[in-house]
Amino acid sequence: MTVPRLAIATRNAHKVDEIWAILAPHLPGVERHDVASAIDLDAPSPVEDGVTFEANALIKARALAAASGMPAIADDSGIAVDVLGGAPGVFSARWAGSHGDDAANLALLLDQVGDVPDEHRGAQFVCAAALATPDGGDVVVLGRMPGRLVRAPRGEGGFGYDPIFVAEGEEVTNAELSPERKNEISHRGAAFRALGPHVAAVLGLR
Ligand code: IMP
Repeated sequence: MTVPRLAIATRNAHKVDEIWAILAPHLPGVERHDVASAIDLDAPSPVEDGVTFEANALIKARALAAASGMPAIADDSGIAVDVLGGAPGVFSARWAGSHGDDAANLALLLDQVGDVPDEHRGAQFVCAAALATPDGGDVVVLGRMPGRLVRAPRGEGGFGYDPIFVAEGEEVTNAELSPERKNEISHRGAAFRALGPHVAAVLGLR
C-alpha cells in the first residue's frame, strides 16, 4: 500500500478529482494515489468560522495538516455580487438558510437582484486555496472569475450558482460550459494553479 504524501481537505470525491486535475501538472512523480482526502483519512471537519474565503481555507488546511501529519490543501469559495457589496460571499453555500441547498440559494439570489438592470449585474466567483504543513507553515492564494448574473437559470452542468452566471468573454452560463472549459477559466482553476508551485516546494519537488 502506498503511503499518501498530500492531504486534501474535502469530503467530496468529485472535488478531489477536480483539484487533482489542476495540480497534477505541477507535481511530477506524484500520483493520484499519493493524495488522500478527508474521507480517506477519517479526519474531523473543523468549524469554518472565518469571515473571509482565505480564513476558512486556512482553517481547513491547518486542521487537516495537524490531524494527518502531512502537508494539506483546502479551498473555500463562493460568489460575490457587486450590488450586494460582495454577498453572498462566505455565506454562498447557505444563503437561503440550509447548507448546500443549491436550488433555494440560487432562487433567493435571483429574487434579490430581480429589479437590478443588466448593466449593474456584475458578480464574481472567488476561491481561496490554502496549503498548510504540520510544522505550522502555510500559504493562501486567491483566484477569481469575473462575470454577470443572468435573469433565469440555464444549463444542466456544474453546481451551485453556475446556471445563473455568465463569465466574462463567454456567451453561455457556467452550467452550459464543458467541465474542461470551466476549469480553464474558473476561480478554482486559477487558485490551485497559483498554489501548485508552493505544493511542489513543500513536497521537495523543486
Ligand atoms: P465550497 O465551500 O467551496 O464548497 O463552495 C461554497 C458555495 O459557493 C457552493 O455551495 C456554491 O453555492 C458556491 N460555489 C463555489 N464555487 C462554485 C462554482 O464553481 N459554481 C457555482 N457555485 C459555486
